[in-house]
Amino acid sequence: METPEVNNTNEVETRGLNFVEQIVADDLAAGKNGGRLNTRFPPEPNGYLHIGHAKAICMDFGVAEKFGGTCNLRFDDTNPVKEDVEYVDSIREDIKWLGFDWGDREYYASDYFPKLYDLAIRLIKEGKAYVDDQTSEQIAAQKGTPTVPGVDSPFRNRSVQENLDLFERMNRGEFDEGSRVLRAKIDMASSNMHFRDPIMYRIIKTPHHRTGTTWQVYPMYDFAHGQSDYFEGVTHSICTLEFVPHRPLYDHFIDEIADESYRPRQIEFNRLNLTYTVMSKRKLLQLVNEGLVNGWDDPRMPTISGMRRRGYTPASVRNFIDLIGYTKYEALNSISLLEHAVRDDLNRVATRGMAVMDPVKLVITNYPADQTEMVEMENNPEDPASGTHQMPFSREIYIERDDFMENPPKKFFRLAPGGEVRLKGAYIIKCTGVEKDADGNITEIQCTYDPETRSGLPGSMRKVKGTLHWVSAAHAVDATARLYDRLFAVEDPSAHPEVDFREMLNPASLRVVEGIKVEPFLAENAVPGRPFQFQRIGYFTADPDSRPGALVFNRTIALKDSWEKAQKK
Ligand code: ATP
Ligand code: MG
Repeated sequence: METPEVNNTNEVETRGLNFVEQIVADDLAAGKNGGRLNTRFPPEPNGYLHIGHAKAICMDFGVAEKFGGTCNLRFDDTNPVKEDVEYVDSIREDIKWLGFDWGDREYYASDYFPKLYDLAIRLIKEGKAYVDDQTSEQIAAQKGTPTVPGVDSPFRNRSVQENLDLFERMNRGEFDEGSRVLRAKIDMASSNMHFRDPIMYRIIKTPHHRTGTTWQVYPMYDFAHGQSDYFEGVTHSICTLEFVPHRPLYDHFIDEIADESYRPRQIEFNRLNLTYTVMSKRKLLQLVNEGLVNGWDDPRMPTISGMRRRGYTPASVRNFIDLIGYTKYEALNSISLLEHAVRDDLNRVATRGMAVMDPVKLVITNYPADQTEMVEMENNPEDPASGTHQMPFSREIYIERDDFMENPPKKFFRLAPGGEVRLKGAYIIKCTGVEKDADGNITEIQCTYDPETRSGLPGSMRKVKGTLHWVSAAHAVDATARLYDRLFAVEDPSAHPEVDFREMLNPASLRVVEGIKVEPFLAENAVPGRPFQFQRIGYFTADPDSRPGALVFNRTIALKDSWEKAQKK
């Protein structure tokens, strides 16, 4: 048996920590950086955030929260060609929605352009950087391979004077884009390819969304990121595994500027990859630009804004991230796990209501034509504090077309001629007949009701096998439902590089159903983001497009996971 340890010191509780938290706890315990903890989340404002970014956000902000540190939001805006303020705004909104706060610590890599430029000048003067007049193709061709050393550029040994002159003129706009770059002079034979004279600066003439035309040269990621961390006082720079080979270069440039009192440290974890979707911003942008989805916040997109619009809750996204955890090796996570987390949270918080997706009229022939009564519906059986609401009942109601069968098989527990079912929250009814049109389609179902079986009366205890949802025909409100399915028809689109990813899109990822019937309470409370469970159907929320008189509901997710089953058939 394990004896629980008594923790009577000020030491940080280290059990149950993930490996990044463990590193942070150790650094804090060792008194590194004066006991300070400062992380950062560094998005490039070149697209909307997706669920992969949510994983990074939960790590960066989460670890800071856990150990009483702070987390900066730093826009990594070093490439004006692809960046835009629209993205800056959306990123802010998405982080807030997830429930994290950067306070007044909002920074931009572009704030450090002057300091980075000065550092570049210093490195040129120290003979540690040079201007290369070759094209990027020529430079790439000289890089060598991990086993074959690279070849020196013919411009590698230019004089300091010439390098200074050329770099300054690059920044004044005297040269064309692509005609020259500034490179660090490190080691063309290094076993780490990133050390083979990496590019520090390139010429870009597109105006920057914050600095306008002040700069004509822009720093590369490797020359900007670590130094930005340092300038900001970041202690733990947590990123994804593809940056492991960049880490020595990160440390190399930090060595150029740091003193002993403090240095930032890069730590890497595995990216989030999800089945039936793509996570590349380039591909997501393409889907948006080519109209293959309806914008970045299309509810089928793996973006945070798409998930919000679809009705996913922040808690469900965070719970999912907790569930998958952080490791040192790449994996592909099942979207079913995310959907499980969504159902789990919605079951707790969604308000129950009645909606009929494929209505057929049902007339209760022994119920007075001019009568309406109100029946009481629980808002959420999972949450007693959520109360109840009233729903009208009358002689004519709608039920789901497939809840009735004229010639039912043996185990059909819904409505059939001569059979009985309970109308949820109301009465037990018995089917006495049907009407059909010339083509044999059922246009009306006739029933009688038993007045003794109203909810709350002793007769309601009578056992019947089926319970149906329904809405009163005279009171029902018409609405449109948008039903979403997986964006891609293929489990791992990235596993098929030979196929254009657009050809793997699921053609049935959006189905629009007009003329669904919802109870008045749903119509009155159709506020985007408010979660509902349409009883027996699934979870829904109003779309921002929804208007009184033109209601639109997004299906967040069906009640049960039918996909996995269907795939196995
Ligand atoms: P780009 O190719 O445009 O750089 P990116 O997905 O890396 O795309 P960034 O804006 O640079 O986008 O990412 C910000 C942060 O989010 C980085 O620290 C990055 O490591 C992290 N991140 C991005 N994608 C994922 C993912 N799928 N899983 C976990 N973290 C991610
Ligand atoms: Mg990136």
